[in-house]
Amino acid sequence: MRTYDVIIIGGGIVGLSTAMKMSSEYPNLDIAVIEKEDGFAEHQTGHNSGVIHAGIYYKPGSKKGNFCYAGNKELRKYCDIKGIEYELCGKLIVATDIKELEMLKDLHSRGVANGVDGLKMIDKNEIKDIEPHASGLGALHSPNTGIVDYKLVAKAYAEDAEQQGVDLFTSCKFLGYKFQNGKTYLNTTDGDFETEWTINCAGLYADKIANKMDVSSDTRIIPFRGEFFSIIPEKSSMIKGLIYPVPQPELPFLGVHFTKRVDGTIEAGPNAVLAFARQGYKKTDFSMADLFEYLRFPGFWRMSATHWKTGIDEQYRSLFKKVFAKSLQKLVPDIKEEDLSNPSAGVRAQAVSFKGEIVQDFKILSGPKSIHVLNAPSPAATASLIIGEEIVQNAKSNFDI
Ligand SMILES: Cc1cc2nc3c(=O)[nH]c(=O)nc-3n(C[C@H](O)[C@H](O)[C@H](O)COP(=O)(O)OP(=O)(O)OC[C@H]3O[C@@H](n4cnc5c(N)ncnc54)[C@H](O)[C@@H]3O)c2cc1C
Repeated sequence: MRTYDVIIIGGGIVGLSTAMKMSSEYPNLDIAVIEKEDGFAEHQTGHNSGVIHAGIYYKPGSKKGNFCYAGNKELRKYCDIKGIEYELCGKLIVATDIKELEMLKDLHSRGVANGVDGLKMIDKNEIKDIEPHASGLGALHSPNTGIVDYKLVAKAYAEDAEQQGVDLFTSCKFLGYKFQNGKTYLNTTDGDFETEWTINCAGLYADKIANKMDVSSDTRIIPFRGEFFSIIPEKSSMIKGLIYPVPQPELPFLGVHFTKRVDGTIEAGPNAVLAFARQGYKKTDFSMADLFEYLRFPGFWRMSATHWKTGIDEQYRSLFKKVFAKSLQKLVPDIKEEDLSNPSAGVRAQAVSFKGEIVQDFKILSGPKSIHVLNAPSPAATASLIIGEEIVQNAKSNFDI
């Protein structure tokens, strides 16, 4: 039987950052990461927008508010050391009506309270200086928002962790556990493991694993697909950096936007539609088991009762490319439906509470023998180094290391 002090379930950016931070702080511990796919960062980490967020949207004092800009700065430092390409291309959040202009002021105050440097309210003429094709009444400019390839970042975390002695297992899916004589036995598709402590960073499956490990939480993961298009190369020079709308404050999703990628291509999206499977990347992907699980969860119905209109609007926009293009035209009027090509998607793991609240903040639950990351949606990739450090600190206080 393979025996470890700590086993981390999930080889996404959060699990790998935790492995790297843990092995650096505790070089004498035997640590392993187990990942069900045959490679790392195959799910949320490998299907995101690649934005290094600055931390504008999040409630001051929340984990997201505290971790995002700190994570942005740490990540840039890490990329500098590792020679990973990133670009501080800057971002505009564009107000297209008077109400949104008022909301922008609130976002500005939030960003300042979260310690984000360089934020500036600009007028409609200044928008054109930064993004000549964008149009709005005013905008919030964030010069410290950037872009990176998170798959490369996760790969570097994995390499560092391995160099520090962490054993990395792929094609190794957690199936169940047994607790006996103070030890935890994990049953996986690659055989059994014995471990003192377990850290669950399983993204879209984190709630299921917590449940299997008898950890009670009032939240469940609801999968939300985010669909993207690429802007055709002939039109991509119209977008210089990142152009976002003013988001609905009660939702964690940022609204369809334009994103420059590190390879110079431009993406439009993502929207946020309910997925019918936890790994439902296509509209037609369907899992009876996953669907049944959230249909049986009262929080799902309570959330739907509150947000049904947004849900229907999002489904409608998902079905009709013309409607998707119309949302984008609010920001860049010259973008046409035929400029959108190569559809792709990611699926967000979004925790929803029993009361039907969409959990806005990161949620990490600690017990005496295990830690569970139960909500790590955006900006968790940006904040991954700080989240990894937070988990190590939680382990320090909860585990008898
Ligand atoms: C469309 C989209 C756009 C986004 N844009 C951004 C952005 O621009 N900037 C940003 O900061 N964040 C963004 N995010 C959020 C960010 O990608 C996630 O917050 C982050 O990747 C979460 O990392 P993770 O390690 O928790 O999850 P994941 O990357 O999903 O990793 C979890 C891992 O656990 C593994 N796993 C699951 N079950 C098991 C099991 N039973 N046994 C073993 N392994 C298991 C999975 O295979 C997976 O590899 C976006 C997300 C999406 C979906």
